Amino acid sequence: MMAKDITEIRKLVSQMTLEEKAGLCSGLDFWNTKGIERLGIPSVMVTDGPHGLRKQQGSADHLGLNDSVPATCFPSAAGLASSWDRDLIFRVGEALGTECQVENVAVLLGPGNNIKRSPLNGRNFEYFSEDPFLASEMAASHVKGVQSQGVGTSLKHFAANNQEHRRMSVDAVIDERTLREIYLASFEGTVKQSQPWSVMSSYNQVNGEYVSESHRLMTRILRDEWGFEGFVMSDWGAVNERVEALKAGLELEMPSSGGIGDAKIVAAVNSGELPVETLDLAVERMLGFIFKSVENRNPAAVFDVDKHHQLAREVARESMVLLKNEGGILPLAKNGRIAVIGEFARKPRYQGGGSSHVNPSRMDDAFEELQAVAGNSASFLYAQGYELASDDTNADLLREACDRAAQADAAVLFLGLPDRYESEGYDRSHLQLPVSHKELLEAVAAVQSEIIVVLSNGSPVEMPWLPQTKAVLEGYLGGQAFGGAVADLLFGEVSPSGKLAETFPMKLSDNPSFLNFPGEGDTVEYREALFVGYRYYDKKEIEPLFPFGFGLSYTEFEYSNLVLDQTCIQDTDTVQVSVTVKNTGSRAGKEVVQLYVSDVESSVIRPLQELKGFAKIGLQPGEERVVTFTLDKRSFAYYNVKLGDWHVESGKFRIAVGSSSRELRLSAELTVESAVKLPGRFHRNTTVGDLLANPLTEEKAKGFSSVFGLDDALGDNPEMLFAMMKYMPLRAMIGFGQGKYTEADLAADLQELNRLAGQE
Ligand code: BGC
Repeated sequence: MMAKDITEIRKLVSQMTLEEKAGLCSGLDFWNTKGIERLGIPSVMVTDGPHGLRKQQGSADHLGLNDSVPATCFPSAAGLASSWDRDLIFRVGEALGTECQVENVAVLLGPGNNIKRSPLNGRNFEYFSEDPFLASEMAASHVKGVQSQGVGTSLKHFAANNQEHRRMSVDAVIDERTLREIYLASFEGTVKQSQPWSVMSSYNQVNGEYVSESHRLMTRILRDEWGFEGFVMSDWGAVNERVEALKAGLELEMPSSGGIGDAKIVAAVNSGELPVETLDLAVERMLGFIFKSVENRNPAAVFDVDKHHQLAREVARESMVLLKNEGGILPLAKNGRIAVIGEFARKPRYQGGGSSHVNPSRMDDAFEELQAVAGNSASFLYAQGYELASDDTNADLLREACDRAAQADAAVLFLGLPDRYESEGYDRSHLQLPVSHKELLEAVAAVQSEIIVVLSNGSPVEMPWLPQTKAVLEGYLGGQAFGGAVADLLFGEVSPSGKLAETFPMKLSDNPSFLNFPGEGDTVEYREALFVGYRYYDKKEIEPLFPFGFGLSYTEFEYSNLVLDQTCIQDTDTVQVSVTVKNTGSRAGKEVVQLYVSDVESSVIRPLQELKGFAKIGLQPGEERVVTFTLDKRSFAYYNVKLGDWHVESGKFRIAVGSSSRELRLSAELTVESAVKLPGRFHRNTTVGDLLANPLTEEKAKGFSSVFGLDDALGDNPEMLFAMMKYMPLRAMIGFGQGKYTEADLAADLQELNRLAGQE
């Protein structure tokens, strides 16, 4: 069956009954759209997502409880993002798309691209980053990869679904600039770059309105401003009032509402409350999607389970972040005696709980993988160390672990968060490891000084125990090949190259959302505003445990020759930034070159620096490469609420490049001139200080001192004179001028000031 053009689709719509049209706007059941046999409209399947296929055959549920067909389980988004590797994530997407084709799935429900506002969010493992630029780049690669296989994606959960606490009713109160620069930006970048077939509207409200009823979010911003061409589906059960949702731009209600939503639509059209044109447009979009997916069906698709498992291993390797490596304890020599401790070594925590829960096609056992990679000269001992099912320490297991550790040259401890600690559906309440894990580490540290910790967790943990370790490898939720990837990294088959896509705080209370998470009742106010993640830690000069962008390697990289192709640009131009990076160590490795932009002097409140470019490159020892970035208006802009648009404040900007947000090696400055003049900026309450600060109006403003009658007393002390005038609004000259300065004078001066500043 071929895709249909818009004329054919409209013809089909004209042949449909009102009931059939309404029916197409909700699911047939949990995972399928409705078909209409008499018109040749098939039913198609949408299903989770995002880091593996969860296609249920038996009982359906949206919380990942019932079984699904075996599929490759890749690392979840928290891990994927730590790879900072667009190409690799594209390849994961391709593999996911192929598996969907094999299972006849039209849309994979993902990726999730909400910003990590608080490390407590139970679903952070499914999200990419605290930074919208990194998040949108990662999600766009995922979408492009899946869609390259003729399978759609559903970018979720749009928008501001940053906590699980009361997720179906909570109202996220967010100021406009923060919404634009942080919480919408991760979706905006993805939509503009990769045009997902669908976007999933989230459960929550934003600023007093359910997202699934927000015309502003789903139509004005998503479609009109960003150019989204697909259809919007609701998260499972996210529709509050079906008719309002349809009017606002939500085409598909999921799952089936058992006919209730459809009946409401029919009644609203019949009563005249809902224009039939609105329904027709929604149906057109649904049919466009259905026939697109039919056209893209690939019944011949097959996938090689082993190859996808290998890809999962490669991705996991690239995603893990080496946080500590004291004295170069890693990589381990392949001829020692190693104690492997912790039940996670044999029963890994490799994915999160909830709707993303995949039934893996294969499963690595880290203990076996370590032995396989090390070969015959190494010897291994294993101890369970703790019981996964309990938080309490088991004295016998502890004793056994210490015993093994004492006999070995080094101990590798597999620690982390058990399933119940983080999941869709609820948030975490603290950032600590289970007591049994902490006590195990402490006890082993008393008998063994060479300790390597491998962590399995979806989001940061506090590490008061860090001094007791020599090395820490953050494994995130590494997917089904977690074990193999850990073995490759610990024995140096490859050098670690993951970098944190989020800040690890020293303690939970350092996190900027701490005072307002998860809110009061059904309201959560995002009072930290723009200052999410590193934007906060940087500005407040708070030392994080590990900063955004951080990650160690077994080799070293040197940065040189930072060059800007221009040092003064209009904001309508682009600037090319290049830097040479050399592998100066003795092993092959990959570096994530990061570029941050700072507005040197700004009249608006801005973060100290923001990520605006990154590239991951692989280098052999001694090899060097020039990395080039292109920066455009958006790299320098903030969202100007009055203008309702992105705006660059003319002036100097600093470009810094380096290996983490706190390890910037080189920097350079450039001037960016805005092509946009802000309209009529000066008004009767503009302060003299604002005019004095602007070189274009400074001279004229100085002349106002005589009107204020300050010349006599302070004429010979201009510094004090201008300080006194600084906070006076222009209209005050009328009063202080004692009749000598009139409303007409003020109007004339305002006109001239705006002209001087080029803002007539
Ligand atoms: C989740 C979505 C998921 C859907 C279907 C919801 O509970 O929030 O992410 O795609 O269920 O399982």
